Amino acid sequence: MTTRSRPQVIALEEHYWDPEVAAHFDVSGGSGANPKTRERLYDLGVGRIAEMDAAGIDVQVLSHGAPGLQRVNAETAVELATLANNRLRDVVSGEPSRFAAFAVLPVPDPEAAADELERAVTKLGFKGAMVHGLTGEGMFLDEKRFWPIYERAQALDVPIYVHPAAPHPEVSRIYYGDYLKEFPALGTAAWGYTVETATLALRLLLSGIFDAYPRLKIILGPLGETLPYIVWRVDAALSRPGHKKVSFREVLCGNFYVTTSGNFSTPALACCVAEMGIDRVLFSVDWPFVANPPAVRWIEEVPYSDDDKVKILSGNCKRLLRI
Ligand code: MN
Repeated sequence: MTTRSRPQVIALEEHYWDPEVAAHFDVSGGSGANPKTRERLYDLGVGRIAEMDAAGIDVQVLSHGAPGLQRVNAETAVELATLANNRLRDVVSGEPSRFAAFAVLPVPDPEAAADELERAVTKLGFKGAMVHGLTGEGMFLDEKRFWPIYERAQALDVPIYVHPAAPHPEVSRIYYGDYLKEFPALGTAAWGYTVETATLALRLLLSGIFDAYPRLKIILGPLGETLPYIVWRVDAALSRPGHKKVSFREVLCGNFYVTTSGNFSTPALACCVAEMGIDRVLFSVDWPFVANPPAVRWIEEVPYSDDDKVKILSGNCKRLLRI
């Protein structure tokens, strides 16, 4: 063991489940069905911290697992968001040097969600909020009805972390259904989540929300859900005659941040850094769906300067979340 000072490591897409919220989840399939994963999701104490210590992770920014409260009715969502965020606040205040938090929002009632975001930030000390895929029967979060959430996020100067959830059942059936038996992750972490989240990111661009709220900050997981790789092509295609004027590059590099959550690829990281700059890439694991140690080992080995690694491991996060 050396005494050389090492950079602080903050991971910011790290999940937990609140028992009362998760009681509404269908856990028959997906990663939450694994009993060991579920045990970890409910562990906000000793076991979680021991796994952080073993991997060298100093701080987890805690967020509820998908789909949060987006697939329950509005009234229940409002009631549960208050309770769940209050409980999460108690966890963070018990271990303030190890945990920070993103709020779970009652998205089905967008005005209440904006108010809950404000309460979570100003009263509970949370760093922003995480949202998850489609809301209700299939509403994308760029729809106008949800704009109060983004308006409030800009006013509070906190980011919204756009996290995936399971695709619409019809999308799952048509796009992935015939392969799901042998490859159950196809519709989720292997590909479906990326389609969901990259589509929402592009829809946010097209909706004009960044004209209405030019200081809005959006965080994307898995090294930008393939978008940094394809930004040139998106812009080229959207600038063909007959299109309204938009610049995806401007928005991607001006309003978005990406995390390494569940995507420990050096070439993919290089693409993000080349397109967006080192200041927009933040370390994450996606625990407990992904193990901590390979994430930390990978980032320690990437061929970047110590200064750049410090930025990825915690510097950018401290600036963005004001930790
Ligand atoms: Mn995740």
